[in-house]
Amino acid sequence: MVEYRDWYRTQYWSEREGQPIRYIVIHDTEGPRDAALSWWSSPNNPYKSSAHDLVDASGVVWRCVPYDKAAHHVGGSHIPGFNQLDPKTGRYEPNANLITIGIELEYPAAPASPPWPQAQIDAAVEHVRELVRTYQIPRANVLRHMDIDPKNRNDPRNLDWEGFLNRVFPVVEQELERALRHSAWNAGGIPYNPEAAFASYAREHGLGNPETPEFDFTFDGQAYRGQGFSKAIIYARAGQWNQIKEVPW
Ligand SMILES: [Zn+2]
Repeated sequence: MVEYRDWYRTQYWSEREGQPIRYIVIHDTEGPRDAALSWWSSPNNPYKSSAHDLVDASGVVWRCVPYDKAAHHVGGSHIPGFNQLDPKTGRYEPNANLITIGIELEYPAAPASPPWPQAQIDAAVEHVRELVRTYQIPRANVLRHMDIDPKNRNDPRNLDWEGFLNRVFPVVEQELERALRHSAWNAGGIPYNPEAAFASYAREHGLGNPETPEFDFTFDGQAYRGQGFSKAIIYARAGQWNQIKEVPW
C-alpha cells in the first residue's frame, strides 16, 4: 500500500480549460524533497512551478495539486499532435500542462546518480498504475520530461524506463488489451491491423473509435490513404505513414 500525504499548499496551478487528462509526465526533483515542496509555494519562484505529486525517497506520495487543475511542470514542452511552436510567443501552444499529470520523483541533483531506492520505485509504480487506470492512459502516453523537452531537460535521470513501464503495464495486461481491441474493432465491422499507423496515431491522440475502414483516394495525381475516427479524419500520402494529418469531419 502506498502512503499518501496531503500537501496542498501551492497556488501554482491553472485551470485545465476543459482539456482532458491524456498524459502522465515523470520528472525528478534534482534536489531534496523539502526543497522541491517549498519551491513550489515560494513567492520567489519566478516560474510558478509545481507538480501534482511528489514521490519521496522513502516511497511516500505527497499530493500537491488536485488532478482537475493543471500543475505547472511542462510549460515549455512539445507534445506532437497537441501543441506547436507559436512564432509570436516563442512558446508551444496550447500549453502541455493542460493535458498532463506531473509526477516528481525525489532524486539528488546532478552529478550525483545513486541507484533509485526500491521503496520509492515500488510506490511510484503503484501510484502511476492507479492513475493510468483512473484516467485510461495508454503506455505510449506515459512520458519522461526528457521525452518532450529534450533540449532543456534530462529528467528523470538514471531510471530504467522500460523496466518502470513494464511494471506499470504488466505484459499480461498489455496482451489482454490488444486482444480486446482487436475484438472490439471487428465487432464494429472494421478490420484491425495492430501495426497500422492510423490505429496507433488515433489512440495516442485520443481521436475516439474508428468510424470507417482505411480507404484510398487520389488527389492531384497523388495517392493517399485515410480513415475516419469519431473525432477526426486522418490521412497520409501513400508511403509517408509517419506524416499523418488530421481534418475535422
Ligand atoms: Zn522535469
